Amino acid sequence: MSKVLKNALVLKNDFSFEKRTLYIENDRIIDFAMGEVEDLDGMLIMPGLVNTHTHAGMTLFRGVAEDVDLNDWLFKYIFPREDKLTEKDVYIGSLVGFMEMVKHGITTFVDMYFYEDAIYQAAKDIGIRGIVARGLADTDEKGEKKLRLAEEFIKKHRDDDLVKGGFGPHALYTCSMDYFKEIIETSKNYDLPVTFHLLESPDERANFKRENGIESVEFLDSIGAFEKNTIIAHGTDLNDDELRLISKRGSTLSYNPISNAKLGNGIAPIKAAIELGVNVTLGTDSAASNNSLNIFSEMKFGALLQRAKFHDPKILKLEEIIKMGTSNAKKSLPFDVGTLESGMLADLVVIDLNNFSMVPMENMLANIVYSFDAASIKRVMVGGKWIYDGEFLTVDGKKVIEDFEKAYSEVNSRL
Ligand SMILES: [Zn+2]
Repeated sequence: MSKVLKNALVLKNDFSFEKRTLYIENDRIIDFAMGEVEDLDGMLIMPGLVNTHTHAGMTLFRGVAEDVDLNDWLFKYIFPREDKLTEKDVYIGSLVGFMEMVKHGITTFVDMYFYEDAIYQAAKDIGIRGIVARGLADTDEKGEKKLRLAEEFIKKHRDDDLVKGGFGPHALYTCSMDYFKEIIETSKNYDLPVTFHLLESPDERANFKRENGIESVEFLDSIGAFEKNTIIAHGTDLNDDELRLISKRGSTLSYNPISNAKLGNGIAPIKAAIELGVNVTLGTDSAASNNSLNIFSEMKFGALLQRAKFHDPKILKLEEIIKMGTSNAKKSLPFDVGTLESGMLADLVVIDLNNFSMVPMENMLANIVYSFDAASIKRVMVGGKWIYDGEFLTVDGKKVIEDFEKAYSEVNSRL
């Protein structure tokens, strides 16, 4: 099935804009195709955004833990609620999370959570692309079982072009060193993303060192955890030597500026990371700590934070921050996403240029980063298929919200 999208302004790889025709065959952009022609005059087409760190199902916890520190947030509010979640809850929570992402122009996600089959199903039902990394921890005796299930899940969906599995050792404070090592060793049998939280809060480094006599990053490097397909979430407390090591090993750092700021965890060293050659992408983290799932917001806030911190309006230039929200993620993912060249996956966002946030067209990159209004997103395509067109074409949006409200009340009644 071919599509021809004509007359739209297209964001090119070199960050210029050109009115050109996009030809799509099956799930990819190609050089030329005959097919159904759609006139997108007055619209801008840009690559779909990539959210490299999220827990979609946690939309069920939006607003439940406000104005508390990370420790209380996690142990007093989030973990007790997660204990009460059923597979059905995670399905509906993830469905709402993915819908929110798509409405904000996100076409690829990297999720870490449990009930992986439910997350997978939610992503497939919406039609969004992504990695479902089962969250792994051995704080109880079920660690081994979880890893076995994660591996089964990965094998089952290995050939799925839209949604694949990955490894999600939660963090060094929820996985023992032996368990973390076992996960990394297992992951070497698969060329799929491995993602974990690292040095998210100021206490994490000291706690790990005190308990284990070794620095977190040193330990992770000793077990080969920093591979090309490793996505490190947060890293707010990474130092220059550690960034240099991560750059050398080729891992990706997912910068989550809003979640880090909201939980009072600080500002990740992104200026240094970029100078030292680390591949940086953007993540929303969950709706419980953000509270929205919007990479356009992360682009703006992420750039502003670095500039404010260093009193320098020249760092994180427009091209750099847009790459962090789109093409940089490709390095760590098994998907050809992030640019609109021939051969790439047809994952794209159609933006209405007749929106106050997009005029005048003096500097379109600045409009995308600094004045963007998500209401200007008209359509979203993933893998050559329109999934959003002012409303969801794949699910009944109204019914989903009803089911979500019901699930939310049920979770609360179990507390
Ligand atoms: Zn997280």
